[in-house]
Amino acid sequence: MSRGGDLLRLQEIDSRVGHERVQLADVESRIAGDPELEKRRRQARRLRREQAAADADLSALEKAVDTLRLRARDLDRHLYDGSVRNPQELIGMQHDLEALRARIDAQDEQLLALMERAEAAAAADRDANAAIVDRELERADHAGEILEEAVALRASVEREERDRAELAAAIPVADLALYERLARRVPPAVVRIVAESCGGCHVPFANSEVRRIRVAAEVVQCSNCDRIVVP
Ligand SMILES: [Zn+2]
Repeated sequence: MSRGGDLLRLQEIDSRVGHERVQLADVESRIAGDPELEKRRRQARRLRREQAAADADLSALEKAVDTLRLRARDLDRHLYDGSVRNPQELIGMQHDLEALRARIDAQDEQLLALMERAEAAAAADRDANAAIVDRELERADHAGEILEEAVALRASVEREERDRAELAAAIPVADLALYERLARRVPPAVVRIVAESCGGCHVPFANSEVRRIRVAAEVVQCSNCDRIVVP
C-alpha cells in the first residue's frame, strides 16, 4: 500500500477509536448514575415535604375545630341546664353560641379543602415513589446489557489501538508527524480526490497533480489546504 494509503487507514482507525471512546464514556456514565432516576428522587422528596406540610396543617385545623366544638357543647349545655335565669344573660349566651356555630361551619369548609389538598399530596407522593420503582426496575433489567456494552466497547478500543500501533510502526516517522500535525490543524488530515478536486478544500487539481497523486509512492499534499491527498 502507498504511504498515503497507510495514513488513510490510520485515520480510519483513529476516527473509529474516537467514536468508540465517546460511546464508552456515555455507557460508563450510565453505569455510574442515572440523571432521570435522580430527577425522580428529587421530585419525590419535594412531594413528600408537601405532603407532610399538608398533613400538619390539617391536624392543626382539626384540633382548632375540636376545641370550638367542645366550647359550643358546653355553652349549649349551660344554656339549657337551668342554671342561668337572667333573660339578658340567656340572650347573650344564645348569640355567643350562634357565632361559635358559624365559626365551626366556616372552619369545617376549610377542613374539607385541606383534606382534599392532603389527599392529593399523598396521591402525588405515591405516584412519585412508583415512578422511582419503575425506573429502578428498568435499570436493573438493563444493567447486564449496559455492562456487556461497556466490555465490548473497551475490547474494541483495545483491538483498534493494537492495530494502530502495528500500522504506525510501519509508517515513516516524518509521515506520522505530518499526519498528526494536520489532524490537529485541518482535520481530516487525509482526503481522497473527489472529481479531480481536493476532497478537503474542493480546489480542483491540475492534470499533472492528479497523475502524481495516483502514482506517487511518497505522500502528496494539496497545494491549497496542505492535506494529504490519496486516490
Ligand atoms: Zn485541499
